[in-house]
Amino acid sequence: MTELLAAITAPDRTVEDIAALPLPEFCRAVTVRKEDIGMFSGMSSADKDPRKSLRVEEVPLPEPGPGEALVAVMASSINYNTVWSSIFEPLPTFGFLERYGRTSPLAARHDLPYHVLGSDLAGVVLRTGQGVNLWKPGDEVVAHCLSVELESADGHDDTMLDPAQRIWGFETNFGGLAEIALVKSNQLMPKPDHLTWEESAAPGLVNSTAYRQLVSRNGAGMKQGDNVLIWGASGGLGSYATQLALAGGANPICVVSSARKAGVCRAMGAEAIIDRSAEGYRFWSDEHTQDPREWKRFGARIRELTGGEDPDIVFEHPGRETFGASVYVARRGGTVVTCASTSGFKHEFDNRYLWMNLKRIIGTHFANYREAWEANRLISKGRIHPTLSRTYPLAETAFAVKDVHDNVHQGKVGVLCLAPEEGLGVRDDEFRERHLPAINRFRTDGGADRDTTH
Ligand code: NAP
Repeated sequence: MTELLAAITAPDRTVEDIAALPLPEFCRAVTVRKEDIGMFSGMSSADKDPRKSLRVEEVPLPEPGPGEALVAVMASSINYNTVWSSIFEPLPTFGFLERYGRTSPLAARHDLPYHVLGSDLAGVVLRTGQGVNLWKPGDEVVAHCLSVELESADGHDDTMLDPAQRIWGFETNFGGLAEIALVKSNQLMPKPDHLTWEESAAPGLVNSTAYRQLVSRNGAGMKQGDNVLIWGASGGLGSYATQLALAGGANPICVVSSARKAGVCRAMGAEAIIDRSAEGYRFWSDEHTQDPREWKRFGARIRELTGGEDPDIVFEHPGRETFGASVYVARRGGTVVTCASTSGFKHEFDNRYLWMNLKRIIGTHFANYREAWEANRLISKGRIHPTLSRTYPLAETAFAVKDVHDNVHQGKVGVLCLAPEEGLGVRDDEFRERHLPAINRFRTDGGADRDTTH
């Protein structure tokens, strides 16, 4: 790998040099194993420790098929889907791989007793399969995580509607938490020149998801002046939703759970911030009963921060714990847009507040090809910045996943795969210099809400 790394980062390298490089037969990758599926049975989600299930092991390299590319991964980042995969919830991901494997001989490669995880990468193209013309060995790229086949007309307007839509590194194998990853070439996008490898790898999945969820007409279609209530506003999705709201002339109302996280939102430029821990909201009085008085108290606090207005949009993802409150506080005619259910997927809300007040609930998921491209473009143009709080080496990925599972992180947590250290990969120093104050401000402070020194 050392020789490969030297060759792909040599300043005078050519397409031919990289294409002629001998590739190793194996590379290191972060995996879960089929034989471990039952290891946490009977435990609560919170007690399931990703450090027990995640391995770093040598796995064989797949051959790139038609329309595919092998990418040397310089850096990746942790998404919540890797938390789900590592604790085998809500289902072990091997079911996805088995189903995918049955669809074609090419897809059968994905059905293995191990699953290489990870849905983000920044790196260098090593090899391309037949029919790939736009991308060449040596290209510096990031990859979005939408894997589609597009054989059905259903996905032709909006690629997320393809019935064969999968999330790479979650519902497919050979993800980005590895030294070398396999992607469909249509997942590739230009790496932002002014960012380091680890900064470039951070926004992908969450920035694209937040873009569709909040900005796109396929989501809430946010407009200037909208009040946007953002749950988890310093987290993965939330830190990009907050930036998108600010960049788009909207007014984010950021909900977080600590003073440190409130500080992160303030640094991003948000003014209206609710510390849900300090203010002690208890939307559920017991496991089965919600407390509408708490919804009202929360709504009153939002009005205090907005000069008496209710949210035009509620950016939802915590799910069961907050959904009743989200539906209640949305303005008359407002939109609750949801992409997840971290605290439980069986939501309960009082439907009278929805129909009598003409509110809408919109379900959304990742982003289509174009939305992912637009979201990456905003990063490349320096309009939205990576929110990276801490970076781990590949060998310690399980600790990074544990931080996210324990909710002690801020923004994104990065992973160095082939990049030997942080700070490498910047190609446009002048543009970076211009945006450096913002880049530094948005990179948060690396601190955690508890000590996570290993
Ligand atoms: P994250 O980095 O962990 O951030 C989520 C934030 O939500 C947390 O930091 C926390 O912030 C807040 N939160 C968690 N539980 C909460 C609760 N019970 N009540 C209120 N707030 C709570 O994760 P993420 O990357 O933003 O992802 C969030 C969820 O979205 C995950 O379930 C993930 O799988 C899902 N997701 C879905 C898609 C998709 O395409 N469908 C894409 C990305 C993510 P505070 O503690 O500061 O309040």
